[in-house]
Amino acid sequence: MTNLVIFWHRRDLRVSDNIGLSNAYKYSSKLIGLFCLDTQILNRDDMASARVAYLLGCLKELQESYQKLGSQLLIIQGNPAQIIPKLAETLQAKAVFWNEDVEPYSKIRDRQVIDALKEKGIQSQTYWDQLLHAPGDILTKSSQEPYKVYTPFWKNLITENKASIAHSLNQLQPLTAAEINLVKEIGIINLPTAKDLGYCWDSPLIFSPGEKAAKEQLSFFCDQAIYEYQEQRNLPASEGTSKLSAALKFGAIGIREVWQATVNAMKNSRSDEARENIQTWQKELAWREFYQHCLYFFPELAEGPYRPEFKEFPWDNNEEDFQAWCEGKTGYPIVDAAMRQLNETGWMHNRCRMIVASFLTKDLIINWQWGEKYFMQKLIDGDLSANNGGWQWSASSGMDPKPLRIFNPATQAQKFDPEGEYIRQWLPELSSLDNEYLVTGKISPLDCQSCAYPQPIVDHQKQQREFKERYKQIKS
Ligand code: FAD
Repeated sequence: MTNLVIFWHRRDLRVSDNIGLSNAYKYSSKLIGLFCLDTQILNRDDMASARVAYLLGCLKELQESYQKLGSQLLIIQGNPAQIIPKLAETLQAKAVFWNEDVEPYSKIRDRQVIDALKEKGIQSQTYWDQLLHAPGDILTKSSQEPYKVYTPFWKNLITENKASIAHSLNQLQPLTAAEINLVKEIGIINLPTAKDLGYCWDSPLIFSPGEKAAKEQLSFFCDQAIYEYQEQRNLPASEGTSKLSAALKFGAIGIREVWQATVNAMKNSRSDEARENIQTWQKELAWREFYQHCLYFFPELAEGPYRPEFKEFPWDNNEEDFQAWCEGKTGYPIVDAAMRQLNETGWMHNRCRMIVASFLTKDLIINWQWGEKYFMQKLIDGDLSANNGGWQWSASSGMDPKPLRIFNPATQAQKFDPEGEYIRQWLPELSSLDNEYLVTGKISPLDCQSCAYPQPIVDHQKQQREFKERYKQIKS
């Protein structure tokens, strides 16, 4: 057996601030990276083309990073539990290192990989990297149980010490010519295109993939927008949020590095107002953390509503209404603009995610799981924990203590897109109409006809009364 170690990248597509990778390097500088295109994940029916394209972009850059360090990132495709132990055995690797994940599928798969490696006498070493605090590190003070409510979780998280940025890597020892020949024999592939994998994303990605782009985006956001985040984050027409969600989903940037940027920004702030803005952004990072901890401890969240009474909810589940929602043809301009943004770019502003999710569940009375899946099929940042958390929050089926939230699309548009800028951007057919009609959605049948825009498919007031009635029934 050589002193070779393999680092298996999954949601940590970077070489800096990577705890598992840094530990693998401490163990041995004879180190290669590995990424397995897991066929079980790629063949799922909720994989988004934009997400696959972003992933492949990250991998391309990661291959270059390994090359610069003198080593290689190998790409394989198949079932990790079979192919990784086989590769490790062929190369006579001493150990395989990786960072853990919270998703139920990953937990089972990783157990299988550990067992298969063990059978071959190869060590596996795992770490927590994608979170500021590993699951189990933030528990209720009274009973040491996982939190089910965000605010006390946040209050606890903010007081806990955060790990520092992980050590970087220096020069790595390359594989020998004989080892390179061996890996060629066991199914190492060139990095495929999205098309090779059966996905199609032709337009430029909304976010540039990779570590370099993520660092630049963080630095750009922390230069200015972070200090105005509290107000600007709610305006979908403004560039008020960080746009780091895909980078955080795939680990193109480390969460410690992101947190450290907020700490630095705090230090540079001269006013309480500036510090409040930064803290508001930290709270969003904590939502990400909260939903991941919840999924880790309550994996059943992935299967359906957390609150049992919701299992019996009498949804309408009208297929035509669902289609209209997906295509952005509901006749509610703010909803339609948001869905068109999602369909065209693979990303949607957070305020709009809340509006369209409320509309699907409370106005169209369609099961939130339909929306959850559609989001996963489209989002560049689609992430089981955040997406499920967002949908259960919007549907009122989750852990959140405040049970019933119904967003009025017109009020939301009046408040957060008062000039109709966002609506005009995504619904150009309405651009000639006055703001008032755009934001209230009160477009005359004649204008609808001349703009080739649908009339509202449901009546908001009537539907919200109906939803409340059904909600009362399931509660009793
Ligand atoms: P910023 O406002 O700059 O926030 C910084 C980071 O904090 C984000 O990049 C993200 O990692 C995290 N974050 C912010 N808000 C949330 C939140 N509510 N929950 C969890 N993490 C958060 N986010 C995803 O990353 N993937 C999803 O699949 C996803 N699906 C969602 C579905 C619904 C119905 C809702 C209401 C929200 C969803 N979100 C999801 C959360 C949020 O909308 C996005 O994280 C955010 O819009 C990303 O833009 P940003 O990076 O500019 O965010």
